Amino acid sequence: MTDRLNGKVAIITGGVAGIGLGIAECYVREGAKVVLTANHNVDGGKAAVAKFGDDVSLFVQQDVAKEADWQKVIDATLAKFGKLDILVNNAGIGGMSPIIEDLSLADWQKTIDVNLTANFLGEKYGIKAMQKTNDAKGSIINVSSVAGLVGLPTAPAYSASKGGTRMLTHATALNLAHRGIDIRVNSVHPGWIDTAIVPAAAKEQLIKTIPVGHMGEPKDIGEVCVYLGSDESKFANGAEFTVDGAQRA
Ligand code: NAD
Repeated sequence: MTDRLNGKVAIITGGVAGIGLGIAECYVREGAKVVLTANHNVDGGKAAVAKFGDDVSLFVQQDVAKEADWQKVIDATLAKFGKLDILVNNAGIGGMSPIIEDLSLADWQKTIDVNLTANFLGEKYGIKAMQKTNDAKGSIINVSSVAGLVGLPTAPAYSASKGGTRMLTHATALNLAHRGIDIRVNSVHPGWIDTAIVPAAAKEQLIKTIPVGHMGEPKDIGEVCVYLGSDESKFANGAEFTVDGAQRA
């Protein structure tokens, strides 16, 4: 199918690699215009824009945890494409800490900043832009994790950040709905997807924990994000979408 996102403008944070790039590929296929961000991977951003075409894509360097960078991304999006329909808060970092007593406050804080606080900032600036340019309509998709539904014992900060994102999603969806604002907010909970965030040395062991016997691919998350970004999902709000090869079943 094509054109399910025809005419829509989406920001996808961390959209130049891994799951974010998989989402971007699905979005461009369905007719969306995409703004892709990343903090360091400028080459990945340039390559993505070269592949999709600069008429439908834009790369903006952004640290999602810095408030000033959000204004920069919104300004660049509106200058190039004129409006904002969809925000995918996808950027994130991993981080293993098998012994919680050894987890430093600095590492805890960085994980919370990038994986949770950044999603609040994205919502704050994204909602304002949707109100200003899109008749206060839109869709926000927060990429959480299965680790936001059940604890990941080897990554307590990561799990806390993803659980926080789940509840941020619920609370924001309710906050907007109660105020009569037609901006939907949902979370997506990937299981193990084959990207750079998964520690290479652990892959073989992790696959044994996935009932279907293999990891997912970025496009598996992209397809559910197409549904959530499109008008097909107009009644889906404040909900959780798990895509995990039956890991949580
Ligand atoms: P990845 O490492 O391949 O990609 C992460 C992206 O985030 C990169 O493009 C990176 O540039 C960007 N990024 C990191 N820190 C940033 C910052 N401060 N500012 C802006 N961009 C930043 O990993 P991925 O697997 O594609 O992860 C994408 C999302 O999916 C993350 O939120 C991750 O927690 C989540 N997730 C991944 C898996 C998995 O198994 N791969 C499972 C569950 C959830």
